[in-house]
Parts: sequence; C-alpha cells; structure tokens
Amino acid sequence: MTVPAPPDRHVIIIGSGPAGLTAALYAARANLKPLLVEGLDAGGQLMLTTMVENWPGFRDGIMGPDLMADMRAQAERFGTEILESTITKVDLQHRPFTLTLANERTLTTEALIIATGASARWLEIGSDRKLSGHGVSTCATCDGYFFKGKPIAVVGGGDSALEEAIYLTKFASKVSLIHRRDALRGSKIMQDKAFANPKIEFVWDSEVAEVKDVEKGEVTGLVLRNLKSGALTELPLDGLFIAIGHTPNTSLFRGQIELDGNGYIVTRDGTKTNVPGVFAAGDVQDHVYRQAVTAAGSGCMAAIDAERYLESLP
Ligand code: NAP
Repeated sequence: MTVPAPPDRHVIIIGSGPAGLTAALYAARANLKPLLVEGLDAGGQLMLTTMVENWPGFRDGIMGPDLMADMRAQAERFGTEILESTITKVDLQHRPFTLTLANERTLTTEALIIATGASARWLEIGSDRKLSGHGVSTCATCDGYFFKGKPIAVVGGGDSALEEAIYLTKFASKVSLIHRRDALRGSKIMQDKAFANPKIEFVWDSEVAEVKDVEKGEVTGLVLRNLKSGALTELPLDGLFIAIGHTPNTSLFRGQIELDGNGYIVTRDGTKTNVPGVFAAGDVQDHVYRQAVTAAGSGCMAAIDAERYLESLP
C-alpha cells in the first residue's frame, strides 16, 4: 500500500489584492504558513488608483499603491510566503487540491482561498480593443498623463466613470462623459462633484458605436449612437477611457465550483463555496459592495473559515 504524500501546504491563497493579502495576514498569524500566489495584476485594482479616501484610519487618504505595499509587507512580516507567479490550472475534484503554476510546477494544498478579483470590462466593439494602448485605456491613473491639453471621453455612469472623469480633468482640455441612460448610477457625492466640474460635459442616452481610427493606429474620434433617436454623430477627440464595470476572474474555476449567472463565485455561510475546503473572498464573489474595505473584511473571514475547516479535518 502506498501512503499518499502530505500536501505541500495547509492553505494557499490566489490573488494579492486587499482580500488575498488580508486572508494571508490572518492565516499567517494563525500559524498556517500560507503561500500566496500573487497573480497577473499584483496588488489588484488599488494599484490603478491614486488617493483612496474611504479606507478607514487614514483621515487624509492614502495612495492605493502605498496601501497595497504596506498590506503586502504586513502579511510577509507574519510569515506569508509570496510567489510572483500565476496559476494556470486547478484540480478541485481531488484532495489535496492541486494547483499548476505558470512554470508547470504543481502544488498541493488542503485548503484554498480564491481572491482573484475582477478585471475591467471592454465595450467589445472591436475598435476599442484594437486601439488599446493607442488612445483607448481602462485606467485613468495609468494613462491620463498622456492627454495633457487634449479632449477625451469616458464611457460609463458608475462611480468609476465619475472618478476617472474628475481625475482626467487635471490633464484633459475637456472630458465628455458618455452614458447609455439619462441618469447616473454613481453615488450622489461623486455625481455632485462631476456636475460641478466645468471641464466635464455629459453625453446622455448614447453608446460608442466605433472608435476611430483603427487604420491610423490612433484615436481621432468616436462615432456615437443616440439610443433614443438612433442618430449617429461624430465626436472628435484624442482618447477614450472605458469605465463600465468589471468581470470576475473565475475562468480558472469554471466547471469545478459553483458560479452565478454573471460568473461570480457563489459563497454561503461566510466565504464557503460549494467545494468544502475552498473559500472565496473579495470582488471574485461580491458584485454588490465591491469596496477595498469589504474585500479585506471577507479576506479575514476566509482565513478564519479555512482555519476552522483545517481544524475539523481528521
Ligand atoms: P458599476 O457601478 O457597475 O457601473 C458601470 C457603469 O457602466 C453603469 O453606469 C453601466 O450603465 C455602464 N455600462 C455597463 N456596461 C456597459 C456597456 N457595455 N456600454 C456602456 N455602458 C455600460 O461599476 P463601477 O463604476 O466600476 O463601480 C463598481 C463598484 O465600485 C460600485 O459599487 C462603486 O460604488 C464602487 N466604486 C467606488 C468608488 C468610490 O467610492 N470612490 C470608486 C469607484 C468604484 P447602467 O447604469 O445603465 O447599468
């Protein structure tokens, strides 16, 4: 009879945003010696923001990348091992769970915390992706600087679109905010700020039909479709920022774990998924709150849930 090899780890965490790093902090302090695989976008979405004003404890705000650097250092201080790699495959059908890294190395673990977050959505009209990095962007803080003194547009009506539009007025000569309805989804305070900004012009009931000019390899304007009249108009400008929400990063788990109709991981009773021993935290399982602080809170819950699960094993 062969004795199965012991798992490499008690707990592995996938993802290095606020959810993953908080799970790592709590798991490390519970002596579980966690391994965190940081993933493609190390630090998560806060790496793409400037000043974070709603993280409790920082009265005057803190820069997103600084907050993430501190969270990472804090998780490491208590013994988290961080692997700068990505997971390409998971086997959640057999125990211990097996994870395959980008370099094909495999790791086994008794418990898994998924904190892979969500990624920016694109319009998917063809020309937007083709001009990505050539005038079309999903990150105002990364690319706003390139549009000094130029007219640009932001698509979307949520807090992200409003925040990006306001931020971009620091650089751009004018920001057209294009929204498909005639009422914004974003919070009242952000709406008030945007309405009060003289550089922001609202284009209501409209969608982007085409980003020009793919042939030239640069953005020269947009073809807009008014959704009430169907009329097409052209808006000359130099850049387009897409801020229409996010898609959860769950393709790795499809078919192995319960997902909802929008692809988010379904959690019940805290952070438990339908696979015992697999927990999910942060934006990958939350399409309602989606805040850094709620992600961190659920990361803490996932570590506690994983610890209790491990204690319950024979
Ligand atoms: P969101 O609230 O889901 O808003 C997405 C916006 O994009 C909506 O206005 C939506 O239109 C529009 N949209 C979606 N698909 C579209 C498409 N294919 N074409 C054109 N427009 C499209 O996403 P979010 O703004 O990224 O915000 C996500 C969460 O993060 C929210 O809870 C938000 O409060 C939070 N957040 C907070 C802050 C802050 O507190 N400072 C900053 C950023 C984000 P409809 O309105 O018609 O659906």
